Amino acid sequence: MTEAAIAIRDLCKTYAGGKRALDGVTFDVPRGQVFGLLGPNGAGKSTLINILAGLVNKTSGSASIWGFDIDEHPRNAKASIGIVNQEITFDPFFTPLETLENQAGFYGVPKAKRRSLDLLRAMGLEDKANAYSRTLSGGMKRRLMVAKAMVHSPPVIVLDEPTAGVDIELRRQLWDYVRGLNARGVTVVLTTHYLQEAEELCDRIAIINHGRVVANEPTRVLLGMAQEKQVVVTLDRDVTAPPQARCFEKVEAIDPRTLAITYRKDRTNAGEVLTAVSEGGFAIVDVTTREADLEDVFLNLTRAAANG
Ligand code: ADP
Ligand code: MG
Repeated sequence: MTEAAIAIRDLCKTYAGGKRALDGVTFDVPRGQVFGLLGPNGAGKSTLINILAGLVNKTSGSASIWGFDIDEHPRNAKASIGIVNQEITFDPFFTPLETLENQAGFYGVPKAKRRSLDLLRAMGLEDKANAYSRTLSGGMKRRLMVAKAMVHSPPVIVLDEPTAGVDIELRRQLWDYVRGLNARGVTVVLTTHYLQEAEELCDRIAIINHGRVVANEPTRVLLGMAQEKQVVVTLDRDVTAPPQARCFEKVEAIDPRTLAITYRKDRTNAGEVLTAVSEGGFAIVDVTTREADLEDVFLNLTRAAANG
């Protein structure tokens, strides 16, 4: 099937009070992928997820899940998705096993089709099946949330910041689990503000900033954009003809004696760039370097959008 796992069209959300959290968001999550929704805090990621979950009402636009429009076929849409919210929420007085059984009941999963113990096993919680949930560690609670989102075997699972504030070991565990789910055919959507996490896991990444999609690319394309570094050199005299070298991606004059030279760290290094400047006949008076980070990728993309 070629239909998208999730299709979002011109989605807008203005909260009571006037905050415009989503401003015309459009993208598809292809079936079978691990899809990253990446953006800084406040970008609108949770708002979007919560609209899909039916927890927040959209202002306008449309969304469908597994072909089901969330307004026209809300029950089918809901049955097609499992959502792990950013906040950990469940009743602390139930055991993990009861938590999953309750959730399965809530989704109308018949007893014969329930797989609570399998899910607990998959999340490494087998021996906690009958413990009180409030006695679980933070990491175990997070894993229980994932299991809970899977009780009705949805074809799509969404994890909203699954690893925010989680230690590196648990982060790796969750990544392995996400890969495992995906290998079994589940489409995974993951929101994160960690570029590295998106790089490691995702086939495709959409970047959202101030409620707008500023990029939606296969991960390797986006990675190329994050390979840029910059050296800013102050030279001994005014530059009339900027130096040229193969290792420069881009040369911009900040003032007559200061150049910002962009290069790609996967192809060259600052030493080669500085050598090339010297070989151009300039003496270097001062130098600073900047590493491209997520912010730069954002800036480059928004600039490109403004110019294009
Ligand atoms: P993210 O998950 O990317 O960090 P959110 O979707 O949580 O972003 O928030 C997007 C923007 O909407 C932020 O400016 C946030 O303060 C605002 N916001 C989120 N929830 C509400 C709410 N219930 N009422 C008003 N504003 C909200
Ligand atoms: Mg959020």
